Amino acid sequence: MLPFESIAEAESVLGRNLTGAETFWFRYSAGMHDFWLYAHNIVFLLTVYTIAPLPLAFIELTNPKCMRKYKLQPKVKTSADRVMDCYTNVVKTFLLAVGPLQLLSYPTIKAVGIRTSLPLPSAWEVLSQLAVYFLVEDYFNYWIHRMLHCKWGYDLIHHVHHEFTAPIGFAAPYAHWAEVLILGIPAFLGPAIAPGHIVTFWLWMVIRHVEAIETHCGYDFPQTPTKFIPFYGGAEYHDYHHYVGGQSQSNFASVFTYCDYIYGTDKGFRYQKEHLAKLREQWKSCELNGETNGRLDKYE
Ligand SMILES: [Zn+2]
Ligand SMILES: [Zn+2]
Repeated sequence: MLPFESIAEAESVLGRNLTGAETFWFRYSAGMHDFWLYAHNIVFLLTVYTIAPLPLAFIELTNPKCMRKYKLQPKVKTSADRVMDCYTNVVKTFLLAVGPLQLLSYPTIKAVGIRTSLPLPSAWEVLSQLAVYFLVEDYFNYWIHRMLHCKWGYDLIHHVHHEFTAPIGFAAPYAHWAEVLILGIPAFLGPAIAPGHIVTFWLWMVIRHVEAIETHCGYDFPQTPTKFIPFYGGAEYHDYHHYVGGQSQSNFASVFTYCDYIYGTDKGFRYQKEHLAKLREQWKSCELNGETNGRLDKYE
């Protein structure tokens, strides 16, 4: 709820005219309780989760020839039933676990100082806070994920997320409800450390989910813009973690590669990459000689 009665009052308090975005925000949120603004988050999560993986699922189910060369585990095909089952499971977890927890955590959001008022944050404020959120979440997510690979953590909770040995976009948040809730903690830590505007908070949640969907997409598209982000893991990096499965002691990080590098948990992946590069060279020469007509699995 905004502490201004009118746009004129807001402009006089700010000492300047409102921007177009701020006028829109005033009209949208002036009479809305902060609780409802915060509750938008679950709606955004459900919307993003429903829409963003759709093109990837379409590619997975139709398997067009032009996309086959980008598939990380080309021998694995996911059925439409499995995609649907995954989607309904995740939506159930969102509605029964994530939604209620988010609503119950409203006092925490107020306590840490996430604001809803005017002025809206500058682009610089949004970008710097998002960078902090990503770094904080990545670090704590790394350690929680690594802990979940202990026998008890895996057998009790984390095995659900690893049901997909070849992940798909819809499988990004597919996990035991307890894991979804536990991993929500590092996602909230960044905003608690560097609280910003509710719009930045929404943006953070949406971008983080889109990033997770991209990481689980099962395709290594060469034009992916995230490839330009330093130390960014991406689809190939996390796909390897799923490929190895429960025994995996590699590639725990959710977004970047630096934690795995520092703590030495990317050795298996790096070895595989080097091994694969050599194998591909051999395979290329075999192909030129007409000795093969298939294609290697990404990790063979
Ligand atoms: Zn794992
Ligand atoms: Zn995963």
